[in-house]
Formats: sequence, C-alpha cells, structure tokens
Amino acid sequence: MYESIFAKQKQFYQTGKTKPLHFRIEALKQLKRAIKYYEKELMQAMRRDFNKQEEDAYLTEIGYVYNDINHTLKNMKAWAEAKKVKTPITHFGSKSVIHKEPYGVALIISPWNYPFNLAVSPLIGAISAGNTAVLKPSEHTPHVAGVISDIIELAFPDHYISALEGGIETNQALLKLPFDYIFYTGSSHVGRIVMKEAAEKLIPLTLELGGKSPAIVTEHANLELAAKRIAWGKYSNAGQTCVAPDYIYIQANVKEIFLEHLKYYTHKFYHEAYISGRYMQIINNSHFERVNNLIQGNVVYGGHSNRNARMIEPAIINDVEFDHPAMQEEIFGPVLPVLSFENFDKAILDVRDMPDPLALYIFTDKKSEAQEVISRIPFGGGAVNDAMYHLATPYLPFGGRGSSGMGKYHGKYSFDTFTHDKSILKQTTLFDIPFRYPNAERIQKLIRFIWR
Ligand code: NAD
Repeated sequence: MYESIFAKQKQFYQTGKTKPLHFRIEALKQLKRAIKYYEKELMQAMRRDFNKQEEDAYLTEIGYVYNDINHTLKNMKAWAEAKKVKTPITHFGSKSVIHKEPYGVALIISPWNYPFNLAVSPLIGAISAGNTAVLKPSEHTPHVAGVISDIIELAFPDHYISALEGGIETNQALLKLPFDYIFYTGSSHVGRIVMKEAAEKLIPLTLELGGKSPAIVTEHANLELAAKRIAWGKYSNAGQTCVAPDYIYIQANVKEIFLEHLKYYTHKFYHEAYISGRYMQIINNSHFERVNNLIQGNVVYGGHSNRNARMIEPAIINDVEFDHPAMQEEIFGPVLPVLSFENFDKAILDVRDMPDPLALYIFTDKKSEAQEVISRIPFGGGAVNDAMYHLATPYLPFGGRGSSGMGKYHGKYSFDTFTHDKSILKQTTLFDIPFRYPNAERIQKLIRFIWR
C-alpha cells in the first residue's frame, strides 16, 4: 500500500504539474478551506486526545497554521523566482542563476505535542516549494490524526498529498522507501533511527528534535517579568513543548524574590485550570509516570497529580543540583527545577558542558551578559528576556543543532528547506576565453595575478 502511494506520487511529480506557481497557490488555498471546514472537529479531537482547550488549540495550532499559510501565499512568488547572482571576471560573458527546484516526494513525520501544527506547518513548506508529500501524524494523538486525514482527503488527491495513520510499523515501512526528502520532528532517539534510514539511501533530511532548554536568570533581570514569561512558556501545553524552558539557572542572590514571582504567576495562570480539570493532560500513562517520578526534593509549589485524569499540577522544585533525576533528560512535562549559580561565568561553562539545547533563554537587562550567552553557548535559537515566543515569528529560522537537530524551517526557511538550489552558469557562445585550456602560458600568468 505504501509503495503504491509513493509510486503514484512519484509519477504525479514527474508530470511537472506541482511546479507552476498557480498550482501551489491554489493547493495552499484549498488546504486552508479544508481546515476551516473541519475546524470544529479538529478542536474536539484535540480535547479528546489530551484535553487541549479551544483557545489554546486556536492560538498554538489552528490560527498559527492559517497565519503560516497567509504569510506563505503573500511571499512565495518572490521566494520561488530564479535568482540572478554575480559572475566573476574569470567567467566573463556568462550569467549565473540559481533555480528553485522542488526535491520531489517528501515524507513528513510529526509528533503528538502540537499534533496539528507540527504536521501541517512543514507541509505548507513542502507544497509551496512544489513537492508532493506523504504525511505521517503521531499515533499518540489518534483523533487529531483522524481529522488530519479527513482534511487532506478533502483537499487533495492522494497522488499529490496523502496522510497515513498508523504506528511505528507505518514509519518503519515508509522509511524503507526512496523519498526525495524527509522532514522529521520528534525525539532525538527516533531521530537517530530516521537518520540511519535516510543515510542508507542518501536522502536529505531535516531533524527537528528536543533537548534541555535552559532559562538563565541573572541579578540584572526584571525578575517579575522573567517569572511571568517563564511560567507561561513552561506550563503551556502542560510543559509538553520542545522549546519550553526545561530548567531555570538563576543567580543565587535573586533566587528567593524570583521564586515568589514565579509561584504567583504559576498560580494565577494555571491553578484554576488544574483544579477545574481544564488543564492539559499528559499524553499517556507512561509519560505520566515518567514525569510524575521527577517530582522529588524541595517542591516549593504544586506537584499534585491525578493519575486517572493523567493530569499533573505545575510543579516548582527548588535547590536542584545537576545530578537530580529531573536534570538527566528532557522533562517534557509541567515540572520546573530551579538551580542556582554564584558566578555568571561558571553558569555559562556549566550550560556549555551539556548537549546543545534546542532553545536558550537569557533574562537580563545587561546587554553584555546577553551577548556573552549568545556568543559563548551553542544552541538552536532563543530569546533575550522571553521564553518560547521566538518560534512564533515567520521571519526567524527555527531549528536545533547537534543533538537538538539539524536544518531549519518557518516562513521562507520552510520553502528553502524543501527546495534544491540548482546552480546554472549560462555561458556565451559569441567568444571563448582560453583561461582554462592547456598551453596558454600568458593566460595562466593572468590567472595567477587575478587569484593571487
Ligand atoms: P517520538 O520521536 O517518540 O515520535 C515522533 C514520531 O516518530 C511519531 O510519528 C512516531 O510514530 C515515530 N516513531 C516512534 N518510534 C519510531 C521508530 N522506532 N521508528 C520510526 N518512527 C518512530 O517523539 P514524540 O514523543 O512524539 O515527541 C516528543 C519529542 O519531540 C521531544 O523530544 C520534543 O522535544 C521533540 N519535539 C521537537 C520539536 C521541534 O520542532 N524541534 C517539536 C516538537 C517536539
């Protein structure tokens, strides 16, 4: 079955029909119409899968995707145009052009934590660049996966775009096929498996992975605002966000005041939701047990849980050291360890010793501190005096480095990701400069002069 879908898509891609700009524009408009048609079902599915409420579903998934489509529609003509570039004197008489060529048939594998956004946002890039695509949403959010299938079926024939529901076996079968591009979002563990499969067939790929993203807070920070923004960034989606602040690393002399603000805003934003059962669920029992087991030590706020409802109250753990269980892996839940440092330079070295995080947040009003963090610690991307908000702009590329991933997307970067830059030198036939040919001693001298 998967082979036949792949073969159909390959055949359709080869007809060249996906390439004209008007085809891609119409496809994106069609996608938007189909999402609008299924918007209610999508919201219900998110609630059924993990209790995601309507406002959140719209803000972080559906509305986000509409905005992404609108931005792409507005700009893709300029992105898709062939670009003229300079030509050196050694190539006198010729012109240099970069043609924007789609890869072909793309495979998009997405996770459960933003089950709609993280499946459809890369798809927008694939479509805008002129590819066909197979979408494999996460099996852990089956209701959303079902509605994604309905949307795709309504919008497109499966020889162009198709969504396949299924578990790990489906991924394994898909990864055996010779796709032209793979876009994977999920854990580093599975990222390695995907990359191995891609390497076997030399398939180019993007890996959007995770990691432990720190929030560093110094004595020069606006502590109240830092606490407010961190509380939102951490506990939205019950902490199940790839760029959620994973832990706080704060200068010891301001920790206690900061903690008061953090408790205040955590309570203000999420207490009512937890008590009334409107807070997001942890995705499944095994993740519930895993996250719940991390709540150890000096818990200074929250940390209650309801196993039947798969709900964990936002928790703050104070006085944490690097050997605490919560510091051994990405938390991916509403548990926030707080570590402290005396010396800013040591804080930089400590964070730099850990695997490259997907995001890093530095809270300080001292420019030199922010600059030091940015220039001395490798990480995917991040923010000064904010958390998580950097991924909601189409103008900044989003992606990790090292163990947090490779490649980038969002806005134009999504288009670029699914596009091959095909370089073409257009040579003149009016004359033939003899630079390159043997036995042109004087010319060789000239070359040595130009390239000295
Ligand atoms: P996951 O890696 O378990 O699953 C992602 C996808 O991989 C799913 O579709 C799943 O079916 C598939 N998969 C699972 N096991 C597989 C196997 N053995 N072979 C082939 N495919 C397999 O990830 P998850 O639990 O859904 O998501 C959580 C992780 O994703 C976290 O680490 C988080 O940080 C990361 N994440 C990263 C981003 C980003 O944009 N960088 C976004 C969201 C989540």
